[in-house]
Amino acid sequence: MWVLNSPHFIQTPISSLPIKHKTFISSQQSSDSITTSITAKSTNKNPVIQSLCKKGNLKQALQLLSSESSPTQQTYELLIHSCAFEKSFRDALVVHRHLIENEFDHDPFLATKLIDMYSELECIEYARQVFDKISRRTIYVWNAILRALTLAGYGVEALGIYREMNRIGVPCDRFTHTYALKACVVSESMTLLLRKGKEIHGRILRHGYESHVHIMTTLLDMYAKFGNVMYASYVFDGMPDKNVVSWSAMIACYSKNERPYEALNLFYAMVNEIIDFSPNSVTMVNVLQACAAVVGLEQGKLMHCYILRRNLDSMLPVTSALMTMYARCGKLEAAQKVFDQMDRRDVVSWNTLISSYAIHGFGMKAVQIFDEMIRRGIKPTPITFVSVLGACSHAGLAEMGKRLFVSMTERHGIRPSVEHYASLVDVLGRANRLKEAAKVIEDMKVEPGPKVWGSLLGSCRIHCNVEFAERASNRLFELEPTNAGNYVLLADIYAKAGMWDEVKNVRKLLEAQGLQKVSGRSWIEVRRKIYSFMSVDELNPHIEQIHALLAELSEEMKQQGYIPQTKLVLYDLDEKEKERILLGHSEKLAVGFGLINTSKGQTIRITKNLRLCEDCHTMTKFISKFIGREIMVRDVNRVHHFYNGMCSCGDYW
Ligand code: ZN
Ligand code: ZN
Repeated sequence: MWVLNSPHFIQTPISSLPIKHKTFISSQQSSDSITTSITAKSTNKNPVIQSLCKKGNLKQALQLLSSESSPTQQTYELLIHSCAFEKSFRDALVVHRHLIENEFDHDPFLATKLIDMYSELECIEYARQVFDKISRRTIYVWNAILRALTLAGYGVEALGIYREMNRIGVPCDRFTHTYALKACVVSESMTLLLRKGKEIHGRILRHGYESHVHIMTTLLDMYAKFGNVMYASYVFDGMPDKNVVSWSAMIACYSKNERPYEALNLFYAMVNEIIDFSPNSVTMVNVLQACAAVVGLEQGKLMHCYILRRNLDSMLPVTSALMTMYARCGKLEAAQKVFDQMDRRDVVSWNTLISSYAIHGFGMKAVQIFDEMIRRGIKPTPITFVSVLGACSHAGLAEMGKRLFVSMTERHGIRPSVEHYASLVDVLGRANRLKEAAKVIEDMKVEPGPKVWGSLLGSCRIHCNVEFAERASNRLFELEPTNAGNYVLLADIYAKAGMWDEVKNVRKLLEAQGLQKVSGRSWIEVRRKIYSFMSVDELNPHIEQIHALLAELSEEMKQQGYIPQTKLVLYDLDEKEKERILLGHSEKLAVGFGLINTSKGQTIRITKNLRLCEDCHTMTKFISKFIGREIMVRDVNRVHHFYNGMCSCGDYW
């Protein structure tokens, strides 16, 4: 079934579209213009048209084309190429019509070029029309449509083409296998496509392509995108020849699948191995992401030096990744410095700076940077608005957030996506304007997905609003029945409201579904080594020493006014036991480890995979004052700087 929902899918067939260039010869022309075209026939304009195309003068080339009655294959090839390059859909149609009228539409070479052109113009339906009309003689036409569909994100349709090729016995080449693998990645029905991907893997091995570095790297990439790290590393290890792309792909696989240590280790292996290529910008972007993931600031600084030595600092994606690394490791000023030193900047650099200030809670500053960006004539992207709305939400700037949301459509012509609505709901919800947030959801022009309802539920936890929490979670349980996080959030809200029967019911629901809540994990870097802690981490070799320290601190801080938030423990236990559970939170273990293993005056930097709980937040504030230490914690929402008994978030996160 051939169904397309792409915004680029234009329903008008080629034959019914108006022709822009009036001088174009068509069967409906008046006798006068026919006379003109006959006169023009006498000279061969092909070389001039081709030369104009090569010089980038498509308009003039098209004017001449109208009076050339015997265009050659090469002329059409160059015109097609120019239309794709200029991204001119209207001109593309002119050339296509001309080509049909001169009976070149059965030329498989030009059909391939046309498919590529429409793919480049993101008009996949036209590419499909070309493919359907041509008799499939050559592998090139098949590969072209396979590639076009894959690039346009139609994975299932592309795999249909691949199946058809195998059914009728078209001999597939290495490009076919590569595009088919990529097709597995771009579609949404994951399980089905992973199975298909494995089948292609088998076929690749049977056809003896396992030594082909490009195919094997695509295969690795496919497994990486499915989150199948084991298969990806199996492919990587089995590759007899690896190039910089394969190394980078494997590092990216680890980095994006929450294996930052492996990513860093592989990077060091790559640098130390005797290979005749060095890490490139793609490698560095992925390594920096791994450093950012675990707040590996010292590792990140080493990478920065490496980037400077290799002159990779002029690459925009690298500098943006550097900024993100510094910001996420708590070094906002270093991120700003990287930005200031850039010779040129693109919209991604600006977006990165805005989101850097956003996660540190400097909402007004983020909005100022946004204004500055607009003043300088940089066109914002949808991501810019996600960042700047996020900034408003972290800083409680509800009115500003609303204004920006409106300006996004009215001034910048960007249609709000579900993500933007989720941000707006977050902005209003966090500011305790829950009714307004619910109204935004009601009035949404697109279907509110789990992200939007999740934003509302998150805000309900901050303000302990049971009514809206129930409304949001009812929808979330329908939309994401297996997401344990939603059940835990609702149970937290009930617990805060002292509604213990309801807490029990939600817990039963969670257990009945066989769902496990995501366990808390925290990371800390000490002397360039990264240590990871899990909640109630009994097997950790440092655990006894840490427990002893935390218990002692807890008792002493209670004298200073610290009250353990035992109501956060959703089990029916006595107070002492609840306190013990709270002290076992991974973030506290990491803080304890940091206090034991770092020297006085050194900032302790920690990252956590979930939102920081209120008890960890309160206790860290106490520790920062009691011990006199600066502590930085990045949780899933933002960066917290604890200093002298206070947190930079102002207890609003
Ligand atoms: Zn905690
Ligand atoms: Zn905080």
